[in-house]
Amino acid sequence: MAKSKFEYVRLFESDDRCLPNAWIVVRVDGKGFHRFSTEHGYEKPNDVRALSLMTKAATSVMEEFKDICLAYGQSDEYSFVFRKETQVYSRRSAKLSTNVCSLFTSAFVYYWSEYFPTSRPLYPPVFDGRTVLYPSNQNIRDYLSWRQADCHINNLYNTTFWALILKAGLTPSEAEQKLKGTLSSDKNEILFSQFAINYNNEPAMLRKGTVLVRRRVPVAIASGGTREVSQIVQEYSDIIGDEFWNENSHLLTLT
Ligand code: ATP
Ligand code: ATP
Ligand code: MG
Ligand code: MG
Repeated sequence: MAKSKFEYVRLFESDDRCLPNAWIVVRVDGKGFHRFSTEHGYEKPNDVRALSLMTKAATSVMEEFKDICLAYGQSDEYSFVFRKETQVYSRRSAKLSTNVCSLFTSAFVYYWSEYFPTSRPLYPPVFDGRTVLYPSNQNIRDYLSWRQADCHINNLYNTTFWALILKAGLTPSEAEQKLKGTLSSDKNEILFSQFAINYNNEPAMLRKGTVLVRRRVPVAIASGGTREVSQIVQEYSDIIGDEFWNENSHLLTLT
């Protein structure tokens, strides 16, 4: 097809292909979800329906983008790790972040009613998205550790904060004041002595966040017996220590 005289403006687009051989992470995070969660009646400190909807949306993203080998989610965020050698969209950074973010957001709305059957979103939710490169295995592990440590710190704080409000009748500012300058051990102690909550017995999904990986799982077949298929499964593993990575060494090796 003949090119128009306007065609040259394409040259104004910059080449944003990600460095070869580096881990590509796309992270999405809800815009203003402190407000969104309040206005949509999320249970505090953790609304399991909302977390499950986030995981459903993330699963849709992994079903579409087969080169995502692992996803990790907590609160209003999800991180998607692409295989180091992926060639999807020629590794173009904006293509990756916008497609992942857009699909995540539309799936969040599309599946909303399965998790919140009695309400509709009051306004269109927004997620931001970014692409970040991690050149070494240690860097990608540290990235995921950072997000899981963030989950732990926030969840311990929120669990204690909301126990003080919902069970001890403190106002939000009184609860905030009480927790100011406290260490993890202090919060564990408040939970245990005041509310008989052993934090370690809280659900793993809330303490650890959700890890999505592909696993071969047996499924029943019509003629009897089973066959193995690849499925996206959710786990609440510790991804900071070595155990997960020793058991899933294929994730960090080039194939
Ligand atoms: P920003 O636009 O800068 O991301 P934000 O209000 O979304 O601002 P975040 O730091 O991303 O702030 O925090 C998300 C907030 O959303 C949490 O602090 C919490 O109040 C709320 N939230 C998210 N998911 C849940 C959930 N499943 N249950 C209860 N509250 C939630
Ligand atoms: P890519 O993912 O690379 O963008 P694409 O299939 O979306 O691939 P585009 O170049 O964006 O390709 O073209 C969009 C195509 O969608 C058009 O060629 C046309 O076939 C179809 N399309 C879009 N909007 C309409 C519309 N309003 N009515 C009919 N067809 C449409
Ligand atoms: Mg947010
Ligand atoms: Mg967030």
